[in-house]
Amino acid sequence: MAENVEVTDGMFPKLDEAQIARLMPLGEVRLVDAGEIVFDQGDSEHGVFVVLSGSVQLFSAVNGRESPLAVHGAGVFTGEVSQLSGRRSLVRCRAHLASRLLEISRANLQRIMLTDALLGEVFLRAFLLRRVYLIGHSVGDAVLIGSNNSADTMRLKAFLSRNGHPFSYVDVERDADVQAMLDHFGVRVTDIPVLICRGELVLRNPTNAETAVCFGLNAGIDDDSVYDLIVVGAGPSGLAAAVYGASEGLKVLVIESNAPGGQAGSSSRIENYLGFPMGISGQDLAARAFVQAEKFGAQIAVARSVAALKCARPPYALQLDDGGSVQSRSLIIASGVQYRRLNLPNLAQFEGAGVYYGATQVEAQVCRDQDVAIVGGGNSAGQAAMFLSTFAKHVYLLVRGPGLSETMSRYLISRIEACPNITLKTFTEIEALEGNGHLERTHWRNTQTGEPHTCETEHLFLMTGASPNTAWLNGCVAMDSKQFIKTGADVGESWPLERSPYLLETSLPGVFAVGDVRAGSMKRVAAAVGEGSMAVQFVHRVLAE
Ligand SMILES: Cc1cc2nc3c(=O)[nH]c(=O)nc-3n(C[C@H](O)[C@H](O)[C@H](O)COP(=O)(O)OP(=O)(O)OC[C@H]3O[C@@H](n4cnc5c(N)ncnc54)[C@H](O)[C@@H]3O)c2cc1C
Repeated sequence: MAENVEVTDGMFPKLDEAQIARLMPLGEVRLVDAGEIVFDQGDSEHGVFVVLSGSVQLFSAVNGRESPLAVHGAGVFTGEVSQLSGRRSLVRCRAHLASRLLEISRANLQRIMLTDALLGEVFLRAFLLRRVYLIGHSVGDAVLIGSNNSADTMRLKAFLSRNGHPFSYVDVERDADVQAMLDHFGVRVTDIPVLICRGELVLRNPTNAETAVCFGLNAGIDDDSVYDLIVVGAGPSGLAAAVYGASEGLKVLVIESNAPGGQAGSSSRIENYLGFPMGISGQDLAARAFVQAEKFGAQIAVARSVAALKCARPPYALQLDDGGSVQSRSLIIASGVQYRRLNLPNLAQFEGAGVYYGATQVEAQVCRDQDVAIVGGGNSAGQAAMFLSTFAKHVYLLVRGPGLSETMSRYLISRIEACPNITLKTFTEIEALEGNGHLERTHWRNTQTGEPHTCETEHLFLMTGASPNTAWLNGCVAMDSKQFIKTGADVGESWPLERSPYLLETSLPGVFAVGDVRAGSMKRVAAAVGEGSMAVQFVHRVLAE
């Protein structure tokens, strides 16, 4: 039973004798002396330990200093979600007393998840609650030193948050004892953002890929296998394909350029997805789907992009941006779309430094009590306006047309109309951005009256539609004039086989396209999830051919 951490229902369940008896054949008994390290922060090779007798203590270990987290007595087990993927441990475990432990390997843990629903649920719930605790209390191996005015700080915050990796944040402009920390690690304020990895490595403005390597986010991914199914993209459609594929026994790898969730991950609240009457944030939805996919054994690589498809014949080879390559007997393309950028000469210098493409908690925190402007008339802009109105002083919603009725759902329009701190600006276009390092003001004009306006806003959200992520396919599959992928009956004459293409199959047999990247798709979470799940049925047929 935990002593140092407040106990949440299910976080530290005590297995009963019958449950332990079911686990005994799946594990190996280990005897440890009092004080002995059972596994350390950063280790990834160990399994889950069930305490048979004695007790073990968990610590967070930062800069060599141990802070106690919990003591597990007989019947309690170690582990949290990294145990499913083979990622490194975020905590240290030391025997509190001389103890008898049962070590269950990752492979056997996955077997339990699939074959013993009750025990599987006990483990999974505890793992999830423990990860939530670690994130909420910034316990782990990452310290980010940065500034909310720095685009790269915002990028790293978003990358770590969206990958569910706990981190402590130190702001050079706000935190009093920051100098001591900078001195300790031998870095200067001008180096920020700086990421301290596992208390020892100092990464100056690392890329997302470098960050993923340092924290072992892709530990356990096997590049050498030939997979049954590779899914490109871990948005809602790709994660759905991974859950269905892996749960139906396929060897599945998902490759994601950034972090799980895709566009949905940048949505503050999705209210029209079945089963969530109170709405759910895109990040929560993605985090659940990610764990669900891993529970069934799917491997998910993050911060790795597919750069090219060698489309000759199966197994298809995918070239990755880091020089690696992976092979699969079938593919599901779930690479979605990317936001359209405004045609403004200095836009790039403010991206992440006042100009954002999604409105999540990360962005909301930095625009508290300030004016913000949002460009766009679609549902994503409407949701962002409602969400940000609870943090910001005032929200300006800018649209080029005469109003919102053509582009936004009625329920959102009604809420926006009823919200006192949102102002809709119709017939409005942004003309210029101004600022020194960070956005300071935005100039826009009414295209009907010609009237200019300058808004002293440091935060501009661009939500103006999107174009498909298909450049990497380099003409391998048939596309429409806007570069969305054609599927099924629409592939027409490019289809090479006797049999007709399956629903969602591209012009390349065994390669499917799902979600927003597919020509004619619905551009909704539910549709993306549905297509990702459906495609797996056809993958089975292709693999059986
Ligand atoms: C702010 C916002 C709010 C929204 N709100 C709602 C809502 O309330 N309800 C609703 O139904 N829909 C909503 N949508 C739309 C919904 O999010 C999308 O329809 C859905 O996310 C599409 O899922 P997808 O998996 O097809 O693609 P995406 O979500 O676009 O995911 C594609 C993924 O593929 C990755 N990728 C791209 N190229 C590569 C590559 N070469 N290699 C590896 N990975 C790659 C991307 O990084 C991305 O993670 C919203 C969208 C936004 C932007």
